[in-house]
Amino acid sequence: DLLNLKGKNIVVMGVANQRSIAWGIARSLHDAGANLIFTYAGERLERNVQDLSATLEGKNSLIVPCDVTSDEDIAKCFTKIKEEVGTIHGVAHCIAFANKEDLKGDFVDTSREGFKLSLDISAYSLTAVAKAAKELMTEGGSIVTLTYLGGERVVKNYNLMGVAKAALDASVRYLANDLGQHNIRVNSISAGPIRTLSAKGVGDFNSILKDIEEKAPLRRNVTQEEVGDTATFLFSDMSRGITGENLHVDSGYHILG
Ligand code: NAD
Repeated sequence: DLLNLKGKNIVVMGVANQRSIAWGIARSLHDAGANLIFTYAGERLERNVQDLSATLEGKNSLIVPCDVTSDEDIAKCFTKIKEEVGTIHGVAHCIAFANKEDLKGDFVDTSREGFKLSLDISAYSLTAVAKAAKELMTEGGSIVTLTYLGGERVVKNYNLMGVAKAALDASVRYLANDLGQHNIRVNSISAGPIRTLSAKGVGDFNSILKDIEEKAPLRRNVTQEEVGDTATFLFSDMSRGITGENLHVDSGYHILG
């Protein structure tokens, strides 16, 4: 059964609350039998992750702090994971950030500081994490990140985050090329808009959701579960021939002219 993830250790980064896409991924991976390791940023979120992971029946998941703006944190986090589980088989990178003032109005007004911070957290972190994770992926592995159409096209208000996603998308291709020789695959999922904590920061998010309902081929928005199931496919051997790819889980919206 190629979809079975029993015996696979997968690191899920970016669960903030039950609406997080990372949590949709975690539930789908858990159902497929994977052993999960959670990372979170900031003490404030530790309790959330503990409470959520406790709802997954079976084994107790390892939960490790990791603020991706800190090289030291990333190193400590993966050292801890190595000590506790040894080999890992996957990383779900579900992390992004931009200041709220950079997610509305004109992109041309983006500040240098805002740009640096957003690109650091939302794009560079994938490379830093991939480098640390590679050392633990001694049996090969799969890395999955989350992107959005705003990195390929201009989407109103997505602004700076669109530029960060474009950098993330290019990073996926370069990382896939570097790591393929170690049997590590790197792919992204371009999710349609989903109401999450981060989405709240995007100006007039409701109208983006409404537009999908009206125009996307499936005439509805997607769910965390649907993104989660696609991630499970990308972590499984079912997708063993796929790397450097961006899979749109967006009700088909991206095909529209
Ligand atoms: P979310 O707010 O639930 O998750 C974002 C996560 O990023 C949080 O857990 C937060 O703690 C984490 N994070 C922020 N700064 C960090 C740091 N310095 N170190 C470590 N973690 C940090 O929102 P979400 O929508 O589930 O976002 C997850 C991913 O999905 C993001 O990359 C987002 O851009 C992407 N995405 C979201 C949508 C959507 O509509 N919600 C659509 C496409 C892609």
